[in-house]
Amino acid sequence: MPSLLITGADLLGRGAADVLVEDGVITEVGSIRSARGADVLDADGLVALPGLVDLHTHLREPGREDAETIASGAAAAAVGGFTAVLAMANTDPVTDTAEAAERILDLGRATGLVDVVPVGAVTKGLAGEELAELGLMHRSRARTTVFSDDGRCVHDARVMRRALEYVRAFGGVVSQHAQDPHLAGPQACAHEGELSGRLGLPGWPGVAEESVVARDVMLARHTGSRVHVAHVSTAGTVEVVRWAKAQGIAVTAEVTPHHLVLTTDLLAGYDPTFKVNPPLRPQEDVDALRAALADGTIDAVATDHAPHARQDKEHAFVDAAFGMLGLETALAVVSDVMVGSGLLDWAGVARVMSQAPARIAGLGTHGGALEVGDAAHITLVDPTAELTVDRGASLSLSRNNPWHGRMLRGAVHATVFGGRVTAQKGALA
Ligand SMILES: [Zn+2]
Repeated sequence: MPSLLITGADLLGRGAADVLVEDGVITEVGSIRSARGADVLDADGLVALPGLVDLHTHLREPGREDAETIASGAAAAAVGGFTAVLAMANTDPVTDTAEAAERILDLGRATGLVDVVPVGAVTKGLAGEELAELGLMHRSRARTTVFSDDGRCVHDARVMRRALEYVRAFGGVVSQHAQDPHLAGPQACAHEGELSGRLGLPGWPGVAEESVVARDVMLARHTGSRVHVAHVSTAGTVEVVRWAKAQGIAVTAEVTPHHLVLTTDLLAGYDPTFKVNPPLRPQEDVDALRAALADGTIDAVATDHAPHARQDKEHAFVDAAFGMLGLETALAVVSDVMVGSGLLDWAGVARVMSQAPARIAGLGTHGGALEVGDAAHITLVDPTAELTVDRGASLSLSRNNPWHGRMLRGAVHATVFGGRVTAQKGALA
């Protein structure tokens, strides 16, 4: 692999420098006159971030390769500036054994585009009853550290307690999809309020999330273990997480790009593109989520990239599948809404989209600060690019893109994974 010289990039928004990459590692940072034989990437006017890390991606392999494969998801991730993605366990079959986790790891490696890190199921078959092979998955080549039944809530408190006790032994973490199944059942698909009543859609009240998060932080305190809250969607959950952190409880939290922008009124047209779990919330929640991401109460942005084949999404609203694409647009959305409003600077974006997720998932080689000795996972961002999202241009196999037709300011210019340019200007390199 030839060396790579990136010239003039603004490193995490802290000032321009050149970066030399040799054998997949950053070997020099500063004013570099020449690097013989190196490929040169002119990054004048671009911001360089440590490669983005997504804590929450749904690749549909194995089981629904018509919606997404590990290869197509990895391509979408690379174009979106990601160098590592955590692949959720709700595939068919479920990732609940060491062998299943290793298979995902190997399929990810074969892409050469990003590190695909398997998330292990908390319970066998995501059934919520018997713990999956947590220890065996951790001791496997996949070194599984994050466990989640995402798509479903681990709603039995005794099972959640045991899972937390189990993963504590090896520094693992349980990522919880917080949804009390009695307060918000499988049909619940719209924020419970005046609008859901008017539209006749089954309501999904915020308290179904908040009550589970409140329980889980107390279980984390009781067990001395680590819990992570997936896709926080309400101001009430933010309050609980803020309180728990103030007590020293080991809780972390993520928010999706869509919950930072899109609101429940989008459901008025019954367009299933906007059907997602947890549902889009009112503006007050959106405002609280933005503030919580800015002040560190919410640690990370995670996409919850959820590709769906046309035949699963194009239904009457109540029957359509939950979920939206997110990998290719996440950085642009965060740039537009958080940097554009002054709530985050670029160092803040590095924190919430790379460093914090890498730390939460225990990914030692990701989430650095672009310093000498770091693995060369680098995302170059054009902060002034204005891009209108076109769902037809996606590398995902699915088209359920809620950002279609929107103009967003700030775009990924190029992605470097292990010293190699994997993507440039919306296409694979
Ligand atoms: Zn979920």
